[in-house]
Amino acid sequence: MSWSIANQGLSADTLLNLESIFALGNGYLGVRGNFEEGYSDKEIRSIRGTYLNAFHDVIDIPYGEKLFAFPGTQQKLVNIIDSQGINIYIGEDMEPFALTAESVLAYERNLHLDKGYSERKIHWKSPSGKELKLHFRRLVSFTTRELFAIHLTVEPVNFTGPIRVVSRVNGDVSNYTNPNDPRVAAGHSKRLSVVACEVRGEYVCLENETMASALRTSCVTRHEWEGEWQVETQAGETDATVTATASLSGPLSLTKWNVYTDTLRHEQMLVDTGIQVQESLKHLSFEDMLEQQEHYLADFWKRSDVVIENDLSLQEGIRFNLYQLLQSAGRDAHSNISAKGLSGEGYEGHYFWDTEIYMFPVFLMTSPDLARQLLLYRYSKLEEARERAKEMGHAQGALFPWRTISGTECSSFFPSGTAQYHISADVAYSFIQYHLAEEDDAFLLQYGAEVLFETARLWMEIGHYYEDKFHIDEVTGPDEYTCLVNNNYYTNVMAKHNLKWAARIFARLQKYDEAAFQALCVRLHVTGPEADSWLKAANDMLLPYDEKLGINPQDDTFLRKAVWDFENTPPEKHPLLLHYHPLTLYRYQVCKQADTVLAHYLLEDEQSQETIRKSYDYYEQITTHDSSLSSCIFSIMASKIGYKDKAYNYFIETARLDLDNTHGNTKDGLHLANMGGTWMAIVYGFAGTRLKENGLSLAPSLPAGWQKYNFRLTFRGRLIAVTIREKGVELELLEGETLELTLYGQSLTLGNEKPLTQALQA
Ligand code: BGC
Repeated sequence: MSWSIANQGLSADTLLNLESIFALGNGYLGVRGNFEEGYSDKEIRSIRGTYLNAFHDVIDIPYGEKLFAFPGTQQKLVNIIDSQGINIYIGEDMEPFALTAESVLAYERNLHLDKGYSERKIHWKSPSGKELKLHFRRLVSFTTRELFAIHLTVEPVNFTGPIRVVSRVNGDVSNYTNPNDPRVAAGHSKRLSVVACEVRGEYVCLENETMASALRTSCVTRHEWEGEWQVETQAGETDATVTATASLSGPLSLTKWNVYTDTLRHEQMLVDTGIQVQESLKHLSFEDMLEQQEHYLADFWKRSDVVIENDLSLQEGIRFNLYQLLQSAGRDAHSNISAKGLSGEGYEGHYFWDTEIYMFPVFLMTSPDLARQLLLYRYSKLEEARERAKEMGHAQGALFPWRTISGTECSSFFPSGTAQYHISADVAYSFIQYHLAEEDDAFLLQYGAEVLFETARLWMEIGHYYEDKFHIDEVTGPDEYTCLVNNNYYTNVMAKHNLKWAARIFARLQKYDEAAFQALCVRLHVTGPEADSWLKAANDMLLPYDEKLGINPQDDTFLRKAVWDFENTPPEKHPLLLHYHPLTLYRYQVCKQADTVLAHYLLEDEQSQETIRKSYDYYEQITTHDSSLSSCIFSIMASKIGYKDKAYNYFIETARLDLDNTHGNTKDGLHLANMGGTWMAIVYGFAGTRLKENGLSLAPSLPAGWQKYNFRLTFRGRLIAVTIREKGVELELLEGETLELTLYGQSLTLGNEKPLTQALQA
């Protein structure tokens, strides 16, 4: 049930959003769901896009007043060579095929989440009455990362006569810009020029270069025509076209094989490499590629599927979100998961803390190999983080950039950019979670320890002692409506965790492999007394607490501010960031997103249940959820506290955020962090899953109105099926050895003889 996202309408208002929703990708290559033939109505806006994860240009950041250590340049994901183009003309008069409401007799578009392709089935009537059936299918291959293939079948319904198909590969491309939305780039739309456009045998080859970063990318295209076609190929200055004519009396088809390479991942001879990849695919048909997709996805869904019984719309939401996460995750040291995945240009293809806190957890518990890749990306950017720390005046440590592609800071607005120092603790948190899940000491020794030590050093640098407590001043927490504060609860508690674990790992690795660990310590100049100082700072960390309200204040002065006038803020003034100067927002108690509440989720053992509940009640009143990273956290915490209705309502907001465009900007790309949040709201929220030092624990509940839901977890080589229904919880070990885990606070052994069952508890 519900394995496909269907769309039957052709409304001009939704086409732009659907370009994001029907985007295809494989972590390396992403193609928006544009129409091959374009839109005939020029009034309909389109963002035509093809992207390679991390493929960027470097652009200057213009400042009126550029102060010390403001980044001078930033990276920007570049829209690359467009190979989507296919135009069709029919009859003696060569009527162009174009979708208009009047000309469509039947239309259906699907994204198949289990089969890994999208399709458009069209029954079309030309203005002069000729009818055609067209079937477009496209895929971005999960098994050959460079490949984007389109398959087209054209079938005449009521006529015979000539047909001409013009397939185009276009190197003259630009990025999308919008000067009035800070979430989208304002300038620098043209970042790529064509350096080669040629025909080599059966291949059309384009090579482009970015203007400043001098990265190159190429697209090598092969056309496979079925039927009697006359084919002519032409290479122009910036584009190449292949024109094929035939006499249409029965079905004819075309497969367009587009192979993308780039200098980040391939040898310099991009076109040659592209041709080699093409040659290796030649014995395969489009159907073979579909089979590979299905096979790949069968394995993915076996480990990742979440089933919500009797609620098709939520079912569709969660599967779509998981599928898009899979399509977006970078699988090499150059790339990560950008805020919009590979589905659009919002946030310019930058990677944020979104990965570590919202998306990494999904992969960690379903596809640990991909989770590991995400950590390796951060590890590979450690040198840049060290340099940034120095630039920011710290003698040592690593400060990860707030937003980046290649590792250097891309944020020009430091109050809600660089000041979010917590990203370094978030990165550390994900390494610690990986350790808790996998207990892989070799990985810790090779990668994790260095990240934990260098981030711990950052806190020692920025923090200081005042009245016997360790303070961290002048930072911004996750809530971007409150900036540059002292002792942000989230930052302090996450830094504490970072420091504590750096000291623990120091002790642990000494025992694991003394010689190798010594070598690491010598390389990093880390000593025992330094590790002791981390632990002391962690123990002495100030965690603000307000006696009167019984909550953790967001920072030292937060509770002294006036509360925002929510009652007199009309809906059209939301999101507030688009209607108020930042300083106005900073002066009030108003949160863009979960901050202290998020800290309570990530580190729940730091506070009592009572403080957590009171804080939730307090912050919920003043949070606008203007960021899509917020609702899922409120859902998880509502589940923890026992606010079942709220948990459910917040969950609903996350599940279909992009499918229903509830934030109004799906056109710029999907909200990937929120997509991870949907999964977390189920697995960590409703099912109460936690990953801590004592292993895996669950405390499931069943949302009102649900009869049953189930999901799977991968944990230390085991595959576990978790089913929750009215009559109880069932845990089944599908793969791997017997495992100790905790259910409702009780230790249990899960063996492979038979599933464990237990009644639901409140
Ligand atoms: C949020 C940040 C987030 C960024 C990218 C902003 O609106 O406030 O927390 O990292 O979007 O998703």
